[in-house]
Amino acid sequence: MSVADQIVYLMYHELELPGRALCDPDPGYVRYVVSVSDFKSQMSWLKDQGWKGQSVTQALSGATSPAVVITFDDGAQTDLITAAPILQDAGFGATFYITTGFLGKPGYLTHSQVRELADQGFDIGCHSATHPYLSDLPKERLRSEILDPKLQLEQIIGRAVENFSCPGGRWNTRVAEITRESGYRSMATSQTRANSAKTDPFCLGRVAIMRGTPLPVFQRLCSGRGLWKLQIAELARSSAKSLLGNGGYDRLRALLLHRAESRQ
Ligand SMILES: [Zn+2]
Repeated sequence: MSVADQIVYLMYHELELPGRALCDPDPGYVRYVVSVSDFKSQMSWLKDQGWKGQSVTQALSGATSPAVVITFDDGAQTDLITAAPILQDAGFGATFYITTGFLGKPGYLTHSQVRELADQGFDIGCHSATHPYLSDLPKERLRSEILDPKLQLEQIIGRAVENFSCPGGRWNTRVAEITRESGYRSMATSQTRANSAKTDPFCLGRVAIMRGTPLPVFQRLCSGRGLWKLQIAELARSSAKSLLGNGGYDRLRALLLHRAESRQ
């Protein structure tokens, strides 16, 4: 398949505004926080090149080309106050995956702010109730993390919530099954790869845009080029996860990140 048949789903989290505290100061979290100026340059570049930014719903009902899908996880307040106006300016759609248990917490969206995002025409997706690693949970807990927050979000925005993304990118076939049974149309993971019309919508890949990603690297990622470098790193991470388990992997990762930070 040629690169042109594929569409890259970008994954963002909180954006950093000068002088504004982040939702979480942990280095493992901050790695995923992109500065507002970098985000602006990325969106301007896409627009200037004639690319479209689409929501997951738009892409699944027929992607335009050239285009990327723009997604945000967690439901930080910067989704509305920072990302939305930049996306509106560019005429781009996006999907905001909300963790319902975070609603109203410091730095996160409130109920009415989620409604406002939906009213502005953005796609509201679900990112679980409490942000656990779903692959670690028994079946009964999965429903309360996948179906219950969908119903809650639908109450808040008054329309269907059809797209789900997995916290920490952790998923397995049982998670995909429950997501499908709960009435979603898609499930996004954090597996680094582009999607095509042939991709299983319950196993959509996404490309994480990390803090400090240089613009030329961003440009390559949007075209689906150079993803193999990230896939190699991902392979190493998933081997470590299966060796250590999710908990052991997180402890090792935290240790290494804190050590790297203290060296700076
Ligand atoms: Zn998340």
